[in-house]
Amino acid sequence: MKIGIIGAGFVGSASAFTLAWSGIAREIMLTDINQSKARAEALDISHAMPFASSCKIYAEEYAALEGADIIIITAGVNQKSGETRTDLLARNTAVFKQIIRQIMQYTADSIIIVATNPVDIMTAYTVKESKLSPNRVFGTGTILDTARFRTLLAEHLHLASQSIHAHVLGEHGDSEVLVWSSAKVGTMPIDEFARVTGYRLDTEIKNLIDDKVRNAAYHIIEGKGATYYGIAGGIARICQAVKNDENAIFSISSQLESVEGIKDVCLSLPSIINRHGIRQVIYPPMSDNERLLLKNSAAKIKSFIAE
Ligand code: NAD
Repeated sequence: MKIGIIGAGFVGSASAFTLAWSGIAREIMLTDINQSKARAEALDISHAMPFASSCKIYAEEYAALEGADIIIITAGVNQKSGETRTDLLARNTAVFKQIIRQIMQYTADSIIIVATNPVDIMTAYTVKESKLSPNRVFGTGTILDTARFRTLLAEHLHLASQSIHAHVLGEHGDSEVLVWSSAKVGTMPIDEFARVTGYRLDTEIKNLIDDKVRNAAYHIIEGKGATYYGIAGGIARICQAVKNDENAIFSISSQLESVEGIKDVCLSLPSIINRHGIRQVIYPPMSDNERLLLKNSAAKIKSFIAE
């Protein structure tokens, strides 16, 4: 599989490394407004390949995107300590206008995955500017928040995170919704699992977990300036699902035409991914309060788009 990555910063290069190391990509082309950085990252990653896979990785201009199966956009300005994702909006739309025009000049049938923040809005902008079918353009959305939720639940319940089935939906940002009502361990509702195994999972613990998921990015950015390994893992996993035509489910951000009264907005719902992109978006069972929170999250994203 050939993958193009636009933006060779922390997220772009960590994604390139993960995709190359895992053997998911056969060929990776990096491009950046700072091409010497893209070249240096490609060279550095290529030196790990004798230990891992035969992926070919290089830095090039947009014309080399031709034939790419997937293009990942991670270019943009990074979120600074104390800055919200929406503060980034104006700067990043200007960058995107130029990037999308160049992508579309050389490839018209790739799948585009957007990681740049604010990701729901950048995804909506990419759908609109690229004019591609909305099932071929999506954002990483809450895939990372969902991973953080599963990690914290797994730590609390002393389980493998792969055995936790729970989603964070809505905006990848402050209004995201942790869907507790349908969270499961294997096939068992999570509250029931905690009760029979003797783990505390009351409102106080749930609020602590909620706070840690919601504020994870802020804490990581405070400590090391950026977050990238988690999202790189998520990006690689999505690419793998496309490559293998898996029909696997991820909480990713896509353009919703009309789902339970939510429409004309990009936000995250569980979505089935295969080699064509999004096969179907699913509206899962939720409590009345979670449904309301999801609608509020959609309204918040819409108000940013209107701005
Ligand atoms: P970074 O600053 O390290 O990298 C951004 C790169 O984009 C830089 O190398 C820069 O030169 C490049 N760039 C800027 N303008 C460009 C242009 N016009 N064309 C090509 N390249 C251009 O930032 P990062 O830490 O890699 O983060 C990238 C984005 O990903 C940010 O918006 C960040 O908020 C976001 N992010 C998203 C998630 C998620 O869950 N979706 C997680 C972490 C970070």
